[in-house]
Amino acid sequence: MHFSDLNLNKPLLKAIFEKNYETPTKVQIQTIPLVLAKKNVIASAQTGTGKTAAFALPILQLLFHQLDTNKEQKKIRALIVSPTRELAVQINEEFTDYSKYTKLSSTVVYGGISIDAQKKVLKKGVDILIATPGRLLELCKQEIVDLSTIEILVLDEADLMLDMGFIDDIKKIDLLCPTQKQILLFSATMPSKVVHFAKNLLSNPEIVEVISIKSETTKVKELLYYVPKPNKIELCLHLLRNTIKGNILIFRRTRNGVDNLEQTLLKNDFKVETLHGEKSQNLRQNALSK
Ligand code: AMP
Repeated sequence: MHFSDLNLNKPLLKAIFEKNYETPTKVQIQTIPLVLAKKNVIASAQTGTGKTAAFALPILQLLFHQLDTNKEQKKIRALIVSPTRELAVQINEEFTDYSKYTKLSSTVVYGGISIDAQKKVLKKGVDILIATPGRLLELCKQEIVDLSTIEILVLDEADLMLDMGFIDDIKKIDLLCPTQKQILLFSATMPSKVVHFAKNLLSNPEIVEVISIKSETTKVKELLYYVPKPNKIELCLHLLRNTIKGNILIFRRTRNGVDNLEQTLLKNDFKVETLHGEKSQNLRQNALSK
């Protein structure tokens, strides 16, 4: 199977070629034709399966084929709602790459940073908006964003969205969009609360289930060390110096714990960046890009 077998148009195929993707992934093979056929879709697919392109590519194609030719200000036609700011930024980056040879534009809005710059971009008009729920509703309340022209709504990481308590926000967003629209719902897991929520929201959905065999997690070796609490840092330094190579991701339970470990690692000449909820969004974004 090649991307050209999926009936994608030349501007998209060119952008895909430049991303060096050789073949479509499973979720892309299954989802792209359904989205192009304007079906509602519930897809269970984890991050890493290529799920963003599975909705971004056909959305771009659908919007491209009914490109507004009048010179009026662009209206938002596709809305992608993401539970986290970082994911929203990543989704927008993918849309930007894939839409390179189309005249379609996208932007991302999320909380934790100034709303004014986001308002400025929105006032110029975009075709595709990627947003986290809180900031989106704020922009709707201020009448900067009008969702009445939405043709396609994507709910990404629906399980996380429900876990993070966004259920009422999502219902509000759905009501601000026209009743007649295509909805795509993606979720890494499908617990009954997600199934129930999805069934209420989507009429006659097509179901896509992708069990990823070549998951990155199968390549991860796990080791467990029992260690008295005071020796944890010592063990960590020992492992970093002697056994672990490459980039390392460390999770800690508390923000304080993260800050303390950062100081220790810096004193020991490691290059460290930290990420937690007490840091401003700009600092978090900087840490991620480093
Ligand atoms: P996602 O599951 O959307 O988070 O995508 C994971 C990564 O896979 C992203 O970095 C994409 O750029 C990349 N990707 C998406 N589709 C393909 C493909 N068909 N071939 C290779 N890489 C891809």
